[in-house]
Amino acid sequence: MSDAFSGVRGQPQLVGQLRAASVEPVHAYLLAGPAGAGTAAAAVAFAAALLCPEGGCGTCRDCRLALAGEHPDAMTFVPEGAFLRITDAEEISRVAVRSPIEGRRKVLVLADFHRVQRVGPALLKTIEEPPESTVFVVLADTVPPELVTIASRCVRIDVAPVPRSTLLDLLLEEGVEEARATTAAAAAGGSLDRARLLVSDPGLARRREAWAGVPERLDGSGAVVAVVVAELLELVEEAAEPLRRAQAEEVAALEERVTATGERGSGRGRVEASQRRALRRHRTEELRFGMATLADRYREALAGPETDSRPVIAGLDAITAASAALLRNPNETLLLQGLLLRLPAGSPSR
Ligand SMILES: [Zn+2]
Repeated sequence: MSDAFSGVRGQPQLVGQLRAASVEPVHAYLLAGPAGAGTAAAAVAFAAALLCPEGGCGTCRDCRLALAGEHPDAMTFVPEGAFLRITDAEEISRVAVRSPIEGRRKVLVLADFHRVQRVGPALLKTIEEPPESTVFVVLADTVPPELVTIASRCVRIDVAPVPRSTLLDLLLEEGVEEARATTAAAAAGGSLDRARLLVSDPGLARRREAWAGVPERLDGSGAVVAVVVAELLELVEEAAEPLRRAQAEEVAALEERVTATGERGSGRGRVEASQRRALRRHRTEELRFGMATLADRYREALAGPETDSRPVIAGLDAITAASAALLRNPNETLLLQGLLLRLPAGSPSR
């Protein structure tokens, strides 16, 4: 059956929950989970279902506009900066109290709300008691302490990463060759977006080797750490190449539209903001992939014969902490240097 939710792949449980919620929606939902796992697509589909007179047929005008991100009563708000600013909160509050333009309802998708930081309290009232016609869909990769109060005013739906086997099936379905699909699915961290990107990424194997080879290179000295971190960050930079190519194509298509129909309504601002956001997310995912690869090395060591496992366990803890810190938009060089200095020197499985 094809409907508004057909574009949400690999998340049958989430789709079921949203489909059920769209019948008699409450004022606010929180979708908590990695964006690449389908939260963004799910939010758009949910908005379509809420605006469609048939509850999300997928083909009517409301559905088509909402799914294309162009429905006047379905807005997605994406913070431009690394964190939300008070002006963002004001803008959201202003839009939330306006009446729907076309129908009986308005859907406001608030993306990247794990970046809410200090402006949470300024938005609480709006999200708690919007006009009856407004429905909020808050998206967050995780729920940091600053988001807990807002989260408590929403119906929370947790979005799990897409299982590796499902990613593999989806890639095979899309015609990707098996060996390539297997590697990409394994390195995607539960994100279908990332898996699709990795399929066309010739440097993946080399990056995996570089991260896996870090323990052998550490000798306890800061000088070595500095060199290794610089190399790793260069690889992270390189890894964004396929994404940059895809974005350049998107910009070229945009320029063509502008030439044909003019700047107005071209969506340039939206495209640019979403590209910046995709690049930032890509970096985070790439670093997380690197740290997961590194963690695998230490886990293997724990499984083998080892006289003293304490340094290895401390190393794993440090990797977990550094990976969690990625959500806070850290200085990557300092974060990685700090991490590598805390890892035990030398091969973990001697
Ligand atoms: Zn419809």
